[in-house]
Amino acid sequence: MEYIIALDQGTTSSRALLVNEKGEVCGVTQEEYPQICPREGWVEHNPLDIWNSQLHVAQKLIKDMGILPSSIKGLGITNQRETTIIWNKHTGIPIYNGIVWQCRRTSDQCQRYKEQGYEKMIRQKTGLVIDAYFSATKIQWILDHVEGARESAEKGDLLFGTVDTWLIWKLTGGEVHATDYTNASRTLLFNIHTLEWDEELLELFHIPKSMLPKAYPSSYPYGKVKKEYLGSEILIAGIAGDQQAALFGQLCFEKGMIKNTYGTGCFLLMNTGQEAVDSKHGLLTTIAWGMKDQVVYALEGSIFMAGATIQWLRDELGIIQTAGETEALALSVRDHGGVYMVPAFQGLGTPYWDMYARAGILGMSRNTKKAHIVRAALESIGYQVKDVIGVMEKDSGIISRELRVDGGAARNQFLLQFQSDLLNIPVLRPHNIEITALGVAYLAGLAIKMWKDPKELETLWTVEKTFIPSMEEEKSRQLYQGWKEAINRVLSKNRIIVDNQ
Ligand code: ADP
Repeated sequence: MEYIIALDQGTTSSRALLVNEKGEVCGVTQEEYPQICPREGWVEHNPLDIWNSQLHVAQKLIKDMGILPSSIKGLGITNQRETTIIWNKHTGIPIYNGIVWQCRRTSDQCQRYKEQGYEKMIRQKTGLVIDAYFSATKIQWILDHVEGARESAEKGDLLFGTVDTWLIWKLTGGEVHATDYTNASRTLLFNIHTLEWDEELLELFHIPKSMLPKAYPSSYPYGKVKKEYLGSEILIAGIAGDQQAALFGQLCFEKGMIKNTYGTGCFLLMNTGQEAVDSKHGLLTTIAWGMKDQVVYALEGSIFMAGATIQWLRDELGIIQTAGETEALALSVRDHGGVYMVPAFQGLGTPYWDMYARAGILGMSRNTKKAHIVRAALESIGYQVKDVIGVMEKDSGIISRELRVDGGAARNQFLLQFQSDLLNIPVLRPHNIEITALGVAYLAGLAIKMWKDPKELETLWTVEKTFIPSMEEEKSRQLYQGWKEAINRVLSKNRIIVDNQ
């Protein structure tokens, strides 16, 4: 048997997974590593913690599985996106901690760029909005705050990388400084149309071009891992940011196909084919993957509060003990009893963009029971997903025919049935839930010809359960109408309207 090893470098843990020729995950190892929060709203990772934990889980996996390292034919990396690492190219030592995607320290700087009117130009080139999430202002912050950094960068002594780039560089013993198009497309520096680092943006953010990695397709021979690390010179052959890897892992290869990951929040991506669709409703335009000479684009929408609403019921309200019990509770009542929960705990994202809205539970009567509130919380996840898919369809002009799902809260059958009823399309849950790691294993396996073409992958990927719409359309329309009314009651007066010029 031959294998692919997938490294899944996430925000809280590093994982390694072994995937065989049949596309089965046959082993997983995982290690958490420290979160560093020096101030309110700041989040950092030590790049050496990332490297050491990632190397350790990969070595442990090979040892635990008792396989010959030479039977691993390819390596794939999928990673937390946007997180920014800068190191000295001669010593290999990072000059500062990695600034994590969640870190808000450059929000004011982003606000200044917005006030100076750069939003439209940046959106046209990168598909993104100006936000502290993305790498550009994080690089700028490090160059401006670490003593001597700017001079070193100007001299060409420093290298920048997102987490994939840092791991490639470490694994190849400093020989390869590279990234893939999906990770590059989250930096705010990459022109997603020309597939090049953009000179005008580099100038705007004061970033020397010499720091940037070379960008390649996601399925590509990047370089070989030094033998001392994993016992064999395994070819790094697949790279993709986590959400894009999940879209690939769900085999959303055709235009209009959508995947949703139901985790703490939700991440939805729609394949828009060779067209980079410009959103009028605050969705991001991003690169889904690059393969051979072709680039596929996606629209991306995110929801802040999905599984996190269930955590809130458990930890703050204390009306449930475990997330798992919400399914039976929701089914213990005939319907929502008129109750809607709008989980605007941190404002509302796509498509409302109201940072000042706050959450509400609406429509309660003396007969309202705990189960109604729990049901309303689960239903709020379904409504938000419908909101996002609605604007994806508007922006792209494509009507979705099915939804493919993964993530922790996709275990909840009530939620997925409700989702299918609301969208009036089938919801498909695959057998293998390690979708992100599988996605990058597929990308690596295609590059080394373990699998001939994406078509062959369709024989490996199986659906565990399909949820078919079973609600009358009129009822589902009325429920959604009620949600829109509930939303209107929590929106603030300071609502930001995103309907781009
Ligand atoms: P993340 O990767 O964002 O940490 P996961 O994909 O591990 O998230 O999913 C965890 C989230 O899913 C938690 O917020 C939890 O509340 C929610 N969750 C887990 N199981 C269920 C369930 N059976 N029903 C509803 N929500 C669930």
